[in-house]
Amino acid sequence: GLTEAARADLLLCVFVVDPRWFRPGKFQSRPMGPHRWRFLWQSLMALDAQLQMLGNRLHIAYGPQETAITALCKGYDISHLHRARLPGTQEADCWGYIESELPGVEMRRHEILSLFKEQDLPFELPELPDTFSQFRRRIEASKLVPAAPLAIPKTLPPAPGFPEDAREQCPPRQETTEDVGFSGGEAAAAAHLEAYLFEHRRIVTYKETRNALDDWPSSAKLSPWLANGSLSPRFAADQISRFERKHVRNESTYWLYFELLWREYFYWYGLRHGKRLFQRNGVQQNNRPVSFYPHRFRAWCDGQTGYPLVNACMNQLRETGYMSNRGRQLVASCFVNELELDWRYGAAWFEEQLVDYDVASNYGNWQYLAGVGADPRGLRRFNLTKQQTQYDPDGEFVRRWRGESSQPVPLHTVDAADWPIG
Ligand code: FAD
Repeated sequence: GLTEAARADLLLCVFVVDPRWFRPGKFQSRPMGPHRWRFLWQSLMALDAQLQMLGNRLHIAYGPQETAITALCKGYDISHLHRARLPGTQEADCWGYIESELPGVEMRRHEILSLFKEQDLPFELPELPDTFSQFRRRIEASKLVPAAPLAIPKTLPPAPGFPEDAREQCPPRQETTEDVGFSGGEAAAAAHLEAYLFEHRRIVTYKETRNALDDWPSSAKLSPWLANGSLSPRFAADQISRFERKHVRNESTYWLYFELLWREYFYWYGLRHGKRLFQRNGVQQNNRPVSFYPHRFRAWCDGQTGYPLVNACMNQLRETGYMSNRGRQLVASCFVNELELDWRYGAAWFEEQLVDYDVASNYGNWQYLAGVGADPRGLRRFNLTKQQTQYDPDGEFVRRWRGESSQPVPLHTVDAADWPIG
């Protein structure tokens, strides 16, 4: 996208921070919580520094995205508008508004967040396979490989002027007490990937370690950078291939690519299914009656349920913005099956808390676990006691994240006659 945009005489690079991200939505949670906001801010500052080295800079606007972009285009007489192709209906509505307000502006949409481009997929997007396994098989049978990553342009055209910068208006960032290990920006992402692959060679055992609950090196920890575009999946896939050529190719090295294919599947799934990604009945339109119990929802968010492993995972999420893939599956299963809550509230809480929140991966995985998405097996119910014995046999994870609540919130607060219990 940037390479193409750099062919212009003048170039205005813009990121719009939207105040609506910081207010609760209809499922109670806010679209942007402190962990991702801090990480995003670091990413923007790093991007600005990189753009300055190339002769441009990043303008940060604050306001509703659609009106902020429209006003800038009109104010600076912009002729071409470049952007990434994003799944998500709010994003689609936002671009729909901008396009209708700016009929004379040429719109360029770049597929830069995926491994593949739509035109190269071995099927039409409306025929996206219903399950990940079918998707992977189709991709692999067609011998499709990720597009090669492109070099960064050496210089950029200057900006047409300097709009008043809105950095001061943006909400402040909260410092973290936990050392979460993620710091925003492309250079940090590249350094992390290089260390994971080439310095520590952890990819060699990835398949055996990836399910651990709390062990930093056990999985690649690429997700926050992939989610906000600081790390290109094509670059990550390219580096995995480089590692295989230079060192070793085994089941684990393949498996990291396999997981990037999961991300890829959900990216196209989000684009294919649009609004159904967010509907209670999911893409399957499977009507599963659910209810909402505010006390159970609160207990789950606060790590105060009757399930120590779930509490530990939820405490870790609130305090660091990260939770392992295994943890995410367990807490989602608890949410849907034990607490019998509407999965969309859980997905919205993840959206607020996760440092690596990604619209398609988050809502796609939640649907999958809630039995309304891309899972041929239907509802997934994990036996939480068994999982604790298997993944935390010594209770170390539960102790570290204080999963044993002294006063777990009971499932029922009223009896059958609606009298308060206790
Ligand atoms: P690794 O195991 O090292 O995997 C490497 C990369 O593969 C990840 O960074 C990610 O890009 C991709 N990947 C791995 N597993 C999945 C998966 N199940 N679905 C999609 N991509 C995957 N991931 C997000 O990036 N953002 C989310 O908002 C998100 N929400 C989730 C919600 C639920 C309920 C569940 C069960 C999973 C969710 N995931 C999400 C997927 C997965 O948990 C994270 O990608 C992973 O834990 C990130 O850690 P990692 O980079 O060390 O993963």
